[in-house]
Amino acid sequence: MNVIPSHLECVRCGKQYDLSKVRYNCDCGGILDLVRDFSKVDGQELKALWESRWGTKRGLYSSGVWRYKELILDIDEKYIVSRQEGNTRLYPAGKAGEYAGLKNFFLKHEGENPTGSFKDRGMTCGVSAAKYYGAQQVACASTGNTSASMASYADIGGMRSIIFIPEGKIAYGKLSQALAFGGRTLQIKGNFDDAMELVQNVCHELNIYLLNSINPFRIEGQKAIGFEVLQQLDWEVPDWFIIPGGNLGNNSALTKGLEELYKLGIINKIPRVAVIQAAGAAPLAKMWKNHTPYERVMNPETIATAIKIGNPISWEKSLRGLKWCNGVVEDVTEQEIMDAKAWVDAAGIGAEPASCCSVAGAKKLVDAGVIDPEAKVVGILTGNMLKDPDAIIGYHKDELGALGIRGTYANAPVVIEPTLEAVKAAIK
Ligand SMILES: *Cc1c(COP(=O)(O)O)cnc(C)c1O
Ligand SMILES: [Zn+2]
Repeated sequence: MNVIPSHLECVRCGKQYDLSKVRYNCDCGGILDLVRDFSKVDGQELKALWESRWGTKRGLYSSGVWRYKELILDIDEKYIVSRQEGNTRLYPAGKAGEYAGLKNFFLKHEGENPTGSFKDRGMTCGVSAAKYYGAQQVACASTGNTSASMASYADIGGMRSIIFIPEGKIAYGKLSQALAFGGRTLQIKGNFDDAMELVQNVCHELNIYLLNSINPFRIEGQKAIGFEVLQQLDWEVPDWFIIPGGNLGNNSALTKGLEELYKLGIINKIPRVAVIQAAGAAPLAKMWKNHTPYERVMNPETIATAIKIGNPISWEKSLRGLKWCNGVVEDVTEQEIMDAKAWVDAAGIGAEPASCCSVAGAKKLVDAGVIDPEAKVVGILTGNMLKDPDAIIGYHKDELGALGIRGTYANAPVVIEPTLEAVKAAIK
């Protein structure tokens, strides 16, 4: 397979740029996509190549991202910084499926990536691009998972990482990873959106490579979530994908990847995609439901800290993808997120709060008659359960009252006397 010619293209005005220089924005301010020329590509040949790499034991193609290298980033292997990311499991949803009212529900667990979130799929590609462009320093604004991932991949790629995190609540599992991996961590007096604005200026002024999902190569890597789900389903296309939305890069990646497979004839049905936001941080859902122009949310609030974002950078890409696949946007309350999480956890699968928007959203859309209970549905679990143990303990001890969350399905620990009688009473 020859390298497929590609260039960067503005999502807003369509202006094209070649890949010779680092660029995140168009002159018009729009963000950029990596666009490929498929005129000489045989989709069936590509699919056969990917099938032949399935189960590779070592090396580049053992990665669940680089297995699809031709549609990820076709650069010389010497630039590629990989941790054999991807290859995450696709679980039958079990009790979480019953809770959502779906008979045919699968959960793709991206929390099983090397640093515990799907961000690793974008980061392997983004850090490889950084290396390709000769960057020595990389930076990101992060609610936690991006920084944990970037710090790890920067270590492996021999680069310095600089992290901008919002002040206030950031899940401890994530912050501890960033610190442990040695990322220079700057806590900004402001929220994520402030940190995002600052890091863009800093990267521009100080010539540091920016690794937020505004970076088009991050999006390319994250497309592999959808590719891998389809390969796990022997390329049988589900009716729906359900995915949480924060900065809106991941759902943009999902639809972009699906559209490419469709254009190449690798799939011949278009699945619908539902993007789920937390009600306290839902600019896309608001715009979608009210048919109003895009407007940022000023003080985003949610226990699902990974998606506590009021001014998502990829909203235009997100909308474009949703229009292509006849998708929908929904929002879910704090209570709905944590109750769905209780069921994802009790199913024996487990995921962090933001991830469980997929299941909360599934339930809401089934109840509303948008998703048929018989439909084949894949929910994306974006992050690992252990990222945010505070949220779990708070729920099960029913201590989240101040946030308006009740421990509806709580499994509280009990304190007992050390006697057989007490044990009998407690476990009956
Ligand atoms: C980053 C993240 C999200 C949100 O993804 P976006 O691309 O920002 O929409 C959701 N869940 C988890 C666990 C994340 O780390
Ligand atoms: Zn433009």
